[in-house]
Amino acid sequence: MAYVTDPALVAIERKIDDGISLSREDGVALLSTPDLHTLGRLAKAAKERKSGNKVFYVLNRYINSTNVCYANCKFCSFAVDEFKEKDRLVRMPADEVFAKAMETGPNFNQVHIVGGHDPKQLSLDYWIPLMRRFKEALPHVQLSLFTAAEIDYMARRHRLSYDEILGSLREAGLDNINGGGAEVFSERFRKLVCPNKVDAAHWLEVHEVAHRHGIASNATMLYGTVETLEERAEHFVMLRESQKRSPGFNAFIPLAFHPDGNELNDCGPTTGLDDIRMFATARLMLDNFDHIKAYWMIQGLKVCQAALQFGADDMDGTHGSTDEERIYHAAGTSSGQYVDDREFRRLIEEAGYVAVRRNSTYDEFAHDWTPPTALRETVGAPGA
Ligand code: SF4
Repeated sequence: MAYVTDPALVAIERKIDDGISLSREDGVALLSTPDLHTLGRLAKAAKERKSGNKVFYVLNRYINSTNVCYANCKFCSFAVDEFKEKDRLVRMPADEVFAKAMETGPNFNQVHIVGGHDPKQLSLDYWIPLMRRFKEALPHVQLSLFTAAEIDYMARRHRLSYDEILGSLREAGLDNINGGGAEVFSERFRKLVCPNKVDAAHWLEVHEVAHRHGIASNATMLYGTVETLEERAEHFVMLRESQKRSPGFNAFIPLAFHPDGNELNDCGPTTGLDDIRMFATARLMLDNFDHIKAYWMIQGLKVCQAALQFGADDMDGTHGSTDEERIYHAAGTSSGQYVDDREFRRLIEEAGYVAVRRNSTYDEFAHDWTPPTALRETVGAPGA
């Protein structure tokens, strides 16, 4: 008989055993419980029911193609005003994005690109030819591009419905939409912190329409600023309901707030225990999501390895060894820019699991898989 010190978790465990989805109130209890051992036991069992002894990682390239943005989210340290902050401006021409992705060779299974709401780059004229170029040159690479916030912005600029724009993006090769832009769905939170970006209903609608077009996606929550625990729990319930309406989310990724260089710096960094509770609560609340991702760049490799015992089953991607992530580095993350896949395997195996290489949609690959020789010779890049 397991020893449970928080009585609230007894009823929650019974619900889990009976296959009943947890409520918002259960979410708050999990997010605030002092009984971390029971929380971990429940979350680990839930992870193992979903993915057995596997923990995933992907060889990927990560690119921020532009940091120009006028949405002025208060937690953001990444965005620049192109007229006032020319020294920090990044706006890559399409050729540069492609060259950046290829810089360390074609042996990767996903290219992950996100940027700001840049009126000069976030358009179909820029993206459709670039997406086709990726697909022609690198058919084994899945395109994990944009957030729902970027797609909403691009749809409004082009006067297109979500159905129209996502149909065009799918046709050009979009495999997956990244999970950013969700922040916290609460209307109170969004009014206070990010009033100029897509609202919760439209964020969810973008993902639901994308899923109907056969585009997979991920979801996130930015935690550790001015949200309440009730708002975090409600966010989980809203994601679970969305997944029921239009399935297609693969992974949920908890994004810890980083305070450097933004207006919410007095909120301070999250704590290790808050991070761990978020992974475990996500695993238990999102019973219709297959994966919970512990993204090393956000909480750091050590916390993410510990998260594998608290419900997480994915450590995200290596990034390329010359990649430059700018969103979290501008906000003060001390994680590096790149993780060798051998390090992922070491950390996963030490946590007691089997490391599995994947792509965006969780097709599995041998660790030493490489693209066909003909393709390596065509692109003529190093490190194949
Ligand atoms: S979080 Fe995204 S939408 Fe908001 S200001 Fe930063 S780049 Fe722009």
